[in-house]
Amino acid sequence: MPERRLESGELLAIGTELTVGDTRDTNGGDLARELTTLGVQVGRLVALPDELAAVTDAFAQALTRADLVVSTGGLGPTPDDLTREAIAAVFGETPEVDRDLEAWLRELFQRRGLVMSDANRKQAWLIAGARALPNAHGTAPGWWVDASDGRVVIALPGPPREMRPMWREHVVPSLLARGVGSDRASRTLRLTDIGESTLVELLGEELLRSRNPEVATYARADAVDLRVAAVAPPGDEGHERGDARELVESTVRELEHKLRDHIFGRDEETWVDVLGARLGARRLACVEIGTGGHLTALLGSAPFVTFSELLASATVFAHSDEHLEDYAIHVRGISGADVGVAIRASDHGGDTAVSIAIATDAGTSRVSRIAFLGGDEGRRRAAVAACAELWRRLDAAPG
Ligand code: AMP
Ligand code: MG
Repeated sequence: MPERRLESGELLAIGTELTVGDTRDTNGGDLARELTTLGVQVGRLVALPDELAAVTDAFAQALTRADLVVSTGGLGPTPDDLTREAIAAVFGETPEVDRDLEAWLRELFQRRGLVMSDANRKQAWLIAGARALPNAHGTAPGWWVDASDGRVVIALPGPPREMRPMWREHVVPSLLARGVGSDRASRTLRLTDIGESTLVELLGEELLRSRNPEVATYARADAVDLRVAAVAPPGDEGHERGDARELVESTVRELEHKLRDHIFGRDEETWVDVLGARLGARRLACVEIGTGGHLTALLGSAPFVTFSELLASATVFAHSDEHLEDYAIHVRGISGADVGVAIRASDHGGDTAVSIAIATDAGTSRVSRIAFLGGDEGRRRAAVAACAELWRRLDAAPG
């Protein structure tokens, strides 16, 4: 069998329940993350109806592109479960009942006091090059098929509670033993006070179109994330492959230079992590006016928040920012916190006006901004703006 390292993959989710929208394809996303973690570049996630021609064609097409094709669904006993038939057709094989598998299935039914029907016999099928993956939670064994060109097809059952343990216990160990994935690395820079479109302009098309490293932006609820990912670059003739991590780090250094003012966090860091680090031993108290409590929600149960008060927006407080600094000073005073913050949000056309006052022992400051969008989304963005303002105001050194 030719050696082929499994570096690229495609995922097929099979079942008409998916293509009519009755069931969400969660298997595809779950396996995409798993494969990515293993260093396999996932090129496609496809959902397909229970139609033999469509499924056979999908396997055949995927195998022209990818080293590894993983399917879920269509392994049941009923005539609409056609995954085995499709894989057999692609390889020009005729499935045959495997005696050991059949015995295992029969025993499974007997143990439950049931008689195995003829329909179930196809769950004991195998083709040349295929081995069965045990299913500890159902009657549908999976298939691992080694193609003659070194590619691999893996067929897993559709129900996630059967698919996941089979993947974890029987697929991952075999993939690791066989050699899977290329050396990959990634870093995420978490950005604030910059929109995705400005970011795209700043970075330029060339960088954003580059394939290795790949630089992509993601608008999240609390940040714009910039993800840099790379696979080990191929070495020159006779040389070893390059280092994925080095490639990522050098790109990140370049980006840090361009985006210095906007990077508040890295990788998995949240506002709670970042503000917690800035505050050190200091404690924070908040007053929210007209924000629907979004700042408190965002900072959650962070240990550095000692006090938070939500004032209704429809009262006198809503009409002006006049006393906002007083509120920041007051909440700091009554709670004994080191830092007091008062935030007020109000409608501003379709957007949200937000004012943020921060009181520390060094004095009091106030800024006003416009947060994009109105309503609850605008109020949420106003709270993110308050986190950004706090992050900018607080010295890195804990007082
Ligand atoms: P199967 O008999 O293997 O085709 O799948 C049976 C059941 O598994 C379906 O009725 C769904 O409830 C579930 N299922 C199948 N495919 C998926 C998928 N891609 N994501 C989530 N659930 C699925
Ligand atoms: Mg099905």
